[in-house]
Amino acid sequence: MPVPHKPFDKVIAIDGPSGSGKSTIAKELARSLNVLYIDTGAMFRALAYEASEKKIVLKEGPALAEFLNSLKIDYGESDSVLIRINGHDLSEKIREHHVSGLASVISQLPSVRKYLLDFQRSLALDKICVMEGRDIGTVVFPDSFCKFFVTASVDIRAERRLKQLRENGDDKITLNQIAEDVRLRDETDMNRSVAPLKKADDAITLDTSALNMNDIIHILSNEVKFRAAHLGFNL
Ligand code: C5P
Repeated sequence: MPVPHKPFDKVIAIDGPSGSGKSTIAKELARSLNVLYIDTGAMFRALAYEASEKKIVLKEGPALAEFLNSLKIDYGESDSVLIRINGHDLSEKIREHHVSGLASVISQLPSVRKYLLDFQRSLALDKICVMEGRDIGTVVFPDSFCKFFVTASVDIRAERRLKQLRENGDDKITLNQIAEDVRLRDETDMNRSVAPLKKADDAITLDTSALNMNDIIHILSNEVKFRAAHLGFNL
């Protein structure tokens, strides 16, 4: 018989700064557990990209409110289409380097966060899933039954990001520029007034600087299954 517990959400929350390896971990963990994977960064990126295309000024006001009202987001339609806004597939465009900075700016706006908070909760409510972001364990699903906070040193994170950008065809940007961008983005994400990037008190911290990915997935997957079994559901 399962022991009674306070209400909890069956969302596995994975938070951490950019380049920490949390996306790889979240994706692989979702695959290994055979559950839905939700990338909330992709949502902030898509909104930032769309707002920039529409020349919306990134500050609170009627223009931003109207912009948010006009949006229709489709998330996770298939393996090849991660995100659409108003019918347009933005899955690749959101990975362009300049979109990272725009996403960091738009994510400071309370009305944008509120809009995406509702959307993220509606996607995951009553489902078992892995949700990745900055505030999943603290704000979006504070009652998640299993939370991880993934980190790595700035140098390692910049190297990973450089590799990613090179693979996507960007051969201009330098390692120093990226390290500077990573530092700036951390600073903005950790110091914004609404839902800053921060470890939840009950999250397990994982530094991926020197760890092997397969080992990490194995450890996390066991931890998740152990907790799920203890709470009376199977994974
Ligand atoms: O995770 P990713 O690097 O794709 O996120 C892009 C930006 O979106 C982050 O720098 C952060 O400013 C914002 N973000 C956020 N809250 C989340 C996910 C992303 O503020 N849950």
